[in-house]
Amino acid sequence: MTDPVKIAELLFPDIQKTPAELEAAYPPRNLPEGARVTRFAPSPTGYLHVGGLFGALADYMTAKRTGGIVYLRVEDTDKKREIDDGVSAILEGLQSFGIRFDEGVTGTDTECGAYGPYTQSRRVEIYRTVAKDLVKRGLAYPCFCTAEELDALRAQQEADGALIRGYFGKYAKCRDLTDAQIEEKIRAGVPYVLRFRADGSEQGRVVFDDLIRGKVEMPENIIDEVLLKSDGVPTYHFAHVCDDHFMRTTHVIRGEEWIPSTAKHIALFKACGFRVPKYAHTPQVLKIDEADGTKRKLSKRKDPEAAVGYFSQAGYPPEALLEYLMTLLNSNFEDWRRANPDADIFTFPFNLKKMSVSGALFDLVKLRDVSKNVIARMTAQDVYACTLAWASRYDPDYAALLRESPEKICGMLALDRGGKKPRKDIAAFREVKAYFSYMYSELYEKDYTLPENLNPADAAALLEAYLDVYSADDDRDAWFEKVKALCAPHGFTPSVKEYKENPDAFKGHVGDVSTVLRIAATGRTNTPDLCTILRLLGEEEVRARFRDAAACYRAL
Ligand code: GLU
Repeated sequence: MTDPVKIAELLFPDIQKTPAELEAAYPPRNLPEGARVTRFAPSPTGYLHVGGLFGALADYMTAKRTGGIVYLRVEDTDKKREIDDGVSAILEGLQSFGIRFDEGVTGTDTECGAYGPYTQSRRVEIYRTVAKDLVKRGLAYPCFCTAEELDALRAQQEADGALIRGYFGKYAKCRDLTDAQIEEKIRAGVPYVLRFRADGSEQGRVVFDDLIRGKVEMPENIIDEVLLKSDGVPTYHFAHVCDDHFMRTTHVIRGEEWIPSTAKHIALFKACGFRVPKYAHTPQVLKIDEADGTKRKLSKRKDPEAAVGYFSQAGYPPEALLEYLMTLLNSNFEDWRRANPDADIFTFPFNLKKMSVSGALFDLVKLRDVSKNVIARMTAQDVYACTLAWASRYDPDYAALLRESPEKICGMLALDRGGKKPRKDIAAFREVKAYFSYMYSELYEKDYTLPENLNPADAAALLEAYLDVYSADDDRDAWFEKVKALCAPHGFTPSVKEYKENPDAFKGHVGDVSTVLRIAATGRTNTPDLCTILRLLGEEEVRARFRDAAACYRAL
């Protein structure tokens, strides 16, 4: 190109703006020293995934901890892969975790902030302004190669055994077209892409300081990367460079899959005359493959739990996933949480430097433990409200039962709650239904199976005798006295100690007697406090269940 300015006018007659005007329109941010500007930049090609939430948290925490700004940018340059409600799905997902951006996209057609538009498809003029400037300065050129020519180039590189593949050096046919050749093709309407004129050398190296990984070194970029595709749409490489500059991003935090492209990006930032941002490449979220026990990337395709929606559907409180992801982000989070059990999670002193480099292993069992702790710290009323909210959306019949008699579930949820060692038995609100199914005659499934040491005739006799003394008004002490009083007449002992000392002298002890009552009332051998269950079930239901169980044992 002998007159790049002329070529620039030929390619971009529509562009009157200059980079200087953009600089003025998007001035450096007026933030205190050390404040970091980060962005979450999803492509609206699917629902929010665990890996996305993990990255968004790193962005959010980095900005918040430094008094900076975190914004949401929608990277929608790949229209083919876009889904209709992609933006709202991502926004709703993030909001449910309490992640609110300072700027950026706020809905399908809405946004806030002075550095917009925050959707790439609405930033065409900006990209074309920067592209025109690159052409003017001889740093970008139009490439008219057809798909067939590019195929031939690949074949040639294969035949040559070229170590580096792509459009570069002697293979870059359009790099040195004359102005006349370019003009002729443009006037003839030949389609073209705009390419970067790379100036790296094959021996050159690039080093950058990754905030998570430390020094990263790689070969310099020599590829004449596409900046604008033939329809004028920018590639990610070019778009994000313009965006991160004019949105005044200080820290590009993104997935490690972008590490190999970073040399290219640094070259582009420099060619555009932009300051290179700081980089932090986050590790992948991994899981242990059930089939072969190896670690692999959590897969959107294979793993249902890769979608954040999986957890709301299963009724995990959003805080649980958040808490768990925080343990994956920074290994010292758990110590911090122990020392600050009630602190707002977002006050955790997050540090990019404390992220693991080798990958974050997502473990559902661990997540369930975290979730049990989160639910154990909630009040019974809150657990009830969350269970009802979950059921209203996913299980309306159960929601109706919960609304009909809230006192039943609330009474059960209140058991062993509060205090130093609360009960940790519920990991997700979906589980409440099965866990307390015996509280509702509509859900209760009787199962009169007795442990081996008890026989049906004794069970029937114990139940009948209990029915004679049962009173719905009994408090826990009165109730237990009655259970103990049943023992001796039926060959059991009220003392476990006595039974252990002389097991052959008794049919069993007081625990076995209450097991019979428990099975008759709930169909289970293990439940929270039985006296409370009986009180909440009410006299009519208790008598009916005991009579039915006794009759069944008699009939055996
Ligand atoms: N849109 C890119 C992606 O979803 C974002 C990469 C980045 O954060 O720069 O992978």
